[in-house]
Amino acid sequence: MHLNPYGEDAVNLAADLANRRPATAEELADRCRAAGLVLQRPVLPDDLDLTLAALDVWEQVVDATDEHERAELVNRMLARWTAHPRLTDHAGSGWHLHYRDDLVPLGTVLSSLIAVGTALHLVGRGMHRLRRCAVTECATVFADTSRTGRQRYCSQRCANRDAVRRHRALRTTGRAPAGTATRRAAR
Ligand SMILES: [Zn+2]
Ligand SMILES: [Zn+2]
Repeated sequence: MHLNPYGEDAVNLAADLANRRPATAEELADRCRAAGLVLQRPVLPDDLDLTLAALDVWEQVVDATDEHERAELVNRMLARWTAHPRLTDHAGSGWHLHYRDDLVPLGTVLSSLIAVGTALHLVGRGMHRLRRCAVTECATVFADTSRTGRQRYCSQRCANRDAVRRHRALRTTGRAPAGTATRRAAR
């Protein structure tokens, strides 16, 4: 996986792993491979532990309500989990930058990728573009890579669910329920 200028693949991988936490080292390895990561070493239970701990910290970034707090948390991740950048062509897929030492275990690879990918995403696309779905019972995290930067739901399914609920609430009470958007549908 190469970090593109917006860190999109890396921040999406973080969201995927946070939303559906891998249960075993094998599952972690499979999901990383599926996301396009080239694994250089066997994946061990320690890698899973390190990754889950990194995701806990990363979710604090997601839940940070203030831009400065969010930046401070990302800066701490960068300080703890990344090394100086270096050029590499380890997979023969072209030269790219790594923000980690060579041949480190997957847990370290992921921590570094998540920290740098999230930083690139937030500064490249907007500091607010990392959040949870607006449907209260859905805690799904997503990186907003939409054109407008106003994505509120994790999926079309949740958007529809919330639209139906708002519509029903309007019909019965004449008011939108608390905590939901009050945007009127265009007619
Ligand atoms: Zn690489
Ligand atoms: Zn959702």
